[in-house]
Amino acid sequence: MSESELVLGVVIGGTGGVWQVRTSDGQTVDASLRGRLKKSEAGRRADGSLRRDTVRTAATILKLAVGDDVQLERSARGDGWAIGEILPRRSVLARRAPGGGQGERIVAANVDQVVVMFAAAKPEPHLRMLDRFLVIAEGNGLPAQIIINKIDLVGESAAHEKFGIYEQAGYPVHMTSVKQESGMLSVRAMLGGRRSVFTGPSGVGKSSLLNTLFPGASLRVGPISESVNKGRHTTVGAVLLALPGADDGYVIDTPGLREVGVWELPAGELDQCFPELRRVREQCRFADCRHVAEPGCAVRDAVDSGGISPERYDSYRRLLEEMESAR
Ligand code: GDP
Ligand code: ZN
Repeated sequence: MSESELVLGVVIGGTGGVWQVRTSDGQTVDASLRGRLKKSEAGRRADGSLRRDTVRTAATILKLAVGDDVQLERSARGDGWAIGEILPRRSVLARRAPGGGQGERIVAANVDQVVVMFAAAKPEPHLRMLDRFLVIAEGNGLPAQIIINKIDLVGESAAHEKFGIYEQAGYPVHMTSVKQESGMLSVRAMLGGRRSVFTGPSGVGKSSLLNTLFPGASLRVGPISESVNKGRHTTVGAVLLALPGADDGYVIDTPGLREVGVWELPAGELDQCFPELRRVREQCRFADCRHVAEPGCAVRDAVDSGGISPERYDSYRRLLEEMESAR
């Protein structure tokens, strides 16, 4: 890389101080953030509240996030790299600031999809948790894909019986057995060329799957920088793993998603985060129907007639209660 060259890269990890950037020619360098980029420009209304559309774009406490596309410049002293520009984000995955404070924290930028992986058994799938992950994806305007692994333990038909409700809701469901190497091709295809936040409980086979599909992927891309080892900064948490041979596909591994609680989404918009509710909610008698006890509710009618699964509706009710009591 010469000095005059325009160097573009993607932030693959880092701390509040030093960031690892993978350049477009495949090198990984440490870079600091130019001072002028550090100020936050929150997307707020005049009264200080967050606007829903800007929740996903401008509001940020931490200005730079894993997944950001950046332009690198030589640092002032000329002995390293500095991030001079952050390119516009096409999406973000965000959660509330720790402690429930104002604003939210960007978990990752430029995310194309959220991939939620569960096991058919061992560990026993906790569907309420799966629903919560899906709502997080929907709340951030991101498409979600579901992987159900270890179907060798229960058989394909039992797995379809249990997880068919997600196909009915409109989600792509990939049934896999890493052990028997079945169902792997469609997973590989949907991870290729995209940036995916990959999440799910531990023990479901995430590392096994990624190692099988992309040998070498479990190695964190880029060396852990020295300043990280010194422990002076708190780590941001998320890391981007390049998928070898996957056409610029990245998997974003983040512990942050699991802590997502009731984020900056009004309880009244929860129904929009369930695709099957979203499809019928306009037919409810009342525009502000909560789909709980209101007369003329198209959502409850759909539950009664089998168009919406009772399990998913139950998840909606529980999350709604949680969100309403949090205010
Ligand atoms: P992670 O915590 O999600 O990364 O899960 P791991 O990849 O560490 O896998 C947890 C355990 O599940 C390991 O003992 C794997 O060998 C096992 N495992 C992974 N995939 C399968 C599968 O398809 N079938 C069965 N029976 N076991 C699997
Ligand atoms: Zn309703």
